[in-house]
Amino acid sequence: MKCVFCNCELKKHTQTIERRLKNRIIYINNVPVDICISCGEVYIDDSIVTEMNNMLNRIQFKDLNNVLFVDFNEERETNFKLFSPQQNKLATT
Ligand SMILES: [Zn+2]
Repeated sequence: MKCVFCNCELKKHTQTIERRLKNRIIYINNVPVDICISCGEVYIDDSIVTEMNNMLNRIQFKDLNNVLFVDFNEERETNFKLFSPQQNKLATT
């Protein structure tokens, strides 16, 4: 895959992604992204975006601080335990 803006190579990287949820800001650390080595444009895979949305859906009940820092890998593990298709039919909803 190449950058749609400058056609340069993308490099695997991890980045802190900021998401807003109502009045709250949630920073997700260590999100796997592809970043353009030339212009710095960040690309996030659809599956990662879906995972982040699942995390946010769960996180919003976890802590009522206005600003929250979470770790992608930790949340991914928790999500996987909670929403693993073999154990929990919530995964299909
Ligand atoms: Zn670029």
